[in-house]
Amino acid sequence: MKKLVLATRNKHKIAELQTLLKGLNLELLTLNDFPNHPPLIEDGTTFQENALKKARTIFAHTKLPTLADDSGLEVFFINGRPGIHSARYAHEQGGKAEENSPDEKNNEKLLAEMRGVAPRRRRAVFKAVLALVGPGYEKTAEGICPGRLGESPRGTNGFGYDPIFIPDGHTKTFAELGEEEKNKIGHRARAVEKMREVIEKRI
Ligand code: IMP
Repeated sequence: MKKLVLATRNKHKIAELQTLLKGLNLELLTLNDFPNHPPLIEDGTTFQENALKKARTIFAHTKLPTLADDSGLEVFFINGRPGIHSARYAHEQGGKAEENSPDEKNNEKLLAEMRGVAPRRRRAVFKAVLALVGPGYEKTAEGICPGRLGESPRGTNGFGYDPIFIPDGHTKTFAELGEEEKNKIGHRARAVEKMREVIEKRI
């Protein structure tokens, strides 16, 4: 069976990608299988740059086709923040932080910034960029899921900003809707759909 490395340790991303890539007949490895991998430095200015950088670094190390995900939430009212800083938003001061912050803290910070903002101004979009890098090829694909920010965290499924994001066409948050629905309409699901044919052809 052909191997594909998922360039992440995030157990939620791994679980989602495993489900979304089912049926492709691939052996999926993760960074947990390569404990000595070089550090992944996310210093790009876009999801695409960061995803490509992660995939290139891990492909160079493992010599195996690698799929990386860089993703986050953009809230229009605050000029697209937290965006590429989604994972470390609560630690961020002046736009820079090395460390990821706990999901609850990120949600608290974002809700506090948006306190009192009317529902129609709470538009937000989840974005995921996947980068596939292998011998002689590089390909990226973006998936987006539009919606709005809730007023307080609701639901227990998922991770990150799932408890405060309500996708368009729904009244429940991603954390209330659960993985089956998220894997149909989510940003990662949409990015995988675009990438599926390339994975089938290249690997
Ligand atoms: P990355 O590991 O630098 O791509 O950071 C991704 C961060 O964006 C995560 O830590 C979450 O805070 C947020 N994020 C990305 N995708 C999702 C999702 O599907 N649900 C909730 N939060 C997400």
